[in-house]
Amino acid sequence: MSVVKSSTARKPLTVAQFRNFIFAGRSVFTLENKETGNYITFKVKEVKDRNRKVIPGQFAIQCKALGDKNYGYEFMGFMNTLKSEFRPRYQGIKEHVGFKTFWWILKNFERLEDFEAKMAMYHEGACATCGMPLTTPESIEKGIGPICERRVLDKSIKLMQEAGTYDPKLSYDDNCRKAIRADASLWGKLILSDEVQSAKENKVHRMFESLKCW
Ligand SMILES: [Zn+2]
Repeated sequence: MSVVKSSTARKPLTVAQFRNFIFAGRSVFTLENKETGNYITFKVKEVKDRNRKVIPGQFAIQCKALGDKNYGYEFMGFMNTLKSEFRPRYQGIKEHVGFKTFWWILKNFERLEDFEAKMAMYHEGACATCGMPLTTPESIEKGIGPICERRVLDKSIKLMQEAGTYDPKLSYDDNCRKAIRADASLWGKLILSDEVQSAKENKVHRMFESLKCW
C-alpha cells in the first residue's frame, strides 16, 4: 500500500507539461492507469554519438513495468522524433506492455487530454532536461529546473525568430499562437503553456501522424 500512497500523493503533470517534458532530454515519468491501478515507468533519454555530441531527435526508450520479472529497466528501442521513426530492439518487444503503452502515447499525442480521467502522468523528482533533483516548488510542479527551463524557452524563442514571427512586444503565449498560425508544425517543437497547447485551433498538426516502426 505504501507505494500506491506515495504515488497518488504526488501532483500529476498536466498534459501540456507532460508533452513539453517527454522529449526534453532525460525524462523519467510514471503513468498511472486509474482504471486498473497499474503503474509503468519510462526513461526517455537523448542519445549521444561517439564524440559525446547529442544526435538530434534520437532517444533511447526504457521501461519498467510493475510485475516485470526483471526489476530493472528494459530497453524498448530508439525513437527518432525528427524522422518520426521507432526502431524496436527486436520484433518481439512489440508485444511488451511498455512498447504498446509508449506507442499509444505517440499515436494519441495531440489528444491526451481526452484520457485524463483514465490516466495520470508523474515525473520522478528529476529535471526532464538534465536529470538533476528538483528542489523548488515551481520546478517540482513543472518537472523542469529553472535554468533548464530558461534554456528551453530561449530555444523556443529562437525557433520563432527563425520562423520570422517573433515580436518582442507580444507575450510569450501570444508569440506562440502567432508562430503556430504561421507554421503548424511548430506546435510540437515549441514549449507551450497548457492554454496554448490545448486550444483546439492550435492543434492542427499531428506530431507523429506518419510514425514508422521497423
Ligand atoms: Zn535541469
